[in-house]
Amino acid sequence: MAHIVVLGAGIGGMPMAYEMQEKIRKGDRVTVISNSESFHFVPSNPWVAVNWRTRDDIAFPIRPYLERKGIDFISAGAKRVHPEKNQIELMNGETVDYDYLIIATGPKLAFDEVEGLGPDGHTHSICHVDHAVSAGKRWESFCKQPGPIVVGAVQGASCYGPAYEFAFIMDTDLRRRKIRDKVPMTFVTAEPYIGHLGLGGVGDSKGLLESALRERSINWICNAKVTKIEADKMYVTEVDEKGEVKKEHVVPHNFAMMLPAFKGVDAVAGIEGLANPRGFTIVDEHQRNPKYKNIYSVGVCIAIPPMGGTPLPVGVPKTGYMIESMVTATAHNIHSELTGNPPTDKATWNAVCLADFGDTGVAFVALPQIPPRNVDWFSSGKWVHLAKIAFEKYFIRKMKTGKSEPIYEKLILKAMGIDKLK
Ligand SMILES: Cc1cc2nc3c(=O)[nH]c(=O)nc-3n(C[C@H](O)[C@H](O)[C@H](O)COP(=O)(O)OP(=O)(O)OC[C@H]3O[C@@H](n4cnc5c(N)ncnc54)[C@H](O)[C@@H]3O)c2cc1C
Repeated sequence: MAHIVVLGAGIGGMPMAYEMQEKIRKGDRVTVISNSESFHFVPSNPWVAVNWRTRDDIAFPIRPYLERKGIDFISAGAKRVHPEKNQIELMNGETVDYDYLIIATGPKLAFDEVEGLGPDGHTHSICHVDHAVSAGKRWESFCKQPGPIVVGAVQGASCYGPAYEFAFIMDTDLRRRKIRDKVPMTFVTAEPYIGHLGLGGVGDSKGLLESALRERSINWICNAKVTKIEADKMYVTEVDEKGEVKKEHVVPHNFAMMLPAFKGVDAVAGIEGLANPRGFTIVDEHQRNPKYKNIYSVGVCIAIPPMGGTPLPVGVPKTGYMIESMVTATAHNIHSELTGNPPTDKATWNAVCLADFGDTGVAFVALPQIPPRNVDWFSSGKWVHLAKIAFEKYFIRKMKTGKSEPIYEKLILKAMGIDKLK
């Protein structure tokens, strides 16, 4: 009988555990290992950072919900994966043996790659709920004494949508407080143009996002390499299309949020054949590691090569729908192996995303994610803001009941008038 371990209990790991539990044989076991007792819904972090949500609104204890479904839960966290021994060493010194391992550990946030970046430096973060809570505290004092804001994503980042979201959400909140006129805002991004999103643009994302920034009086610097951040200044080198220095900027800030580049977590980084040089898990088209064939991986922690062709490094985003399709493919493939068949399922890796602007929003569908595409659709409207709120509630409820369904396909694609993604 097989023991299947899911490492990580986030947007990928939780549905993975539920979906896997539905596919095991009698006597097989599923265990989830996380480094935290609680789940939090990462896409809502921008709302937490402006106090539209509290931590409790978007987080809940994992253990009772998984155990109710017969899934074991360990919150000690993984110190190191030992693939040669089929074993995980935990932070508390204990070990866990597995027959199949699914790595879903999300990103390690590479704040150390830019001097002064991150919550221990001079910028806030929305990548983790704890960061968002601390940003939310600072937000209130900032609003009492407003000044310039810098928001965006540094070189090597792969998650641009949330940077735009947070810029527009802050703008909406400041307008509601009637202090927007006291806050010059600058969007700083390594993307070669506004709306590139790590995807070479989607539909008219360039035109729509540029005009949204203009309408809300948010200036921008593209091809921006952030070299240093001080308590009230960000040093930014703008490069040209050849990557050569075009202009040096010193941008003042009284509140800054910059998304960092991502890496793979320490428990996996440096394992030859399992992780690439940045620590991301190497997978084949079936989400399976080519060297350690009983290891699968889903979510932000998998290695996807960047599109390339940009003056500064710009990563490809791994969004919820993609992750969901990785989860389903992995559950099917491990089920195939358990029943004596080879893995055949492939994730679609299509990009489908809703980005909230606080009162309106934008949505995109990129099929496939790298152009040229069969579907290249981008739209905006108040419906996106409402759909995102509905999706938050829906996802959290599903993570508590353990009933996994192709959520995006049902909710979002219906709104978009698209029947199928596959
Ligand atoms: C601010 C933000 C907003 C986003 N918004 C959207 C959105 O609106 N729509 C969308 O489609 N995508 C969005 N994304 C992208 C993506 O959907 C999220 O990043 C998503 O959380 C990724 O899921 P994941 O499971 O890979 O990682 P996570 O959700 O981060 O989960 C990883 C889990 O692994 C755990 N872990 C880490 N290390 C260890 C260890 N050593 N041992 C055990 N457990 C460990 C972590 O604690 C965490 O619970 C957003 C990303 C960010 C950063």
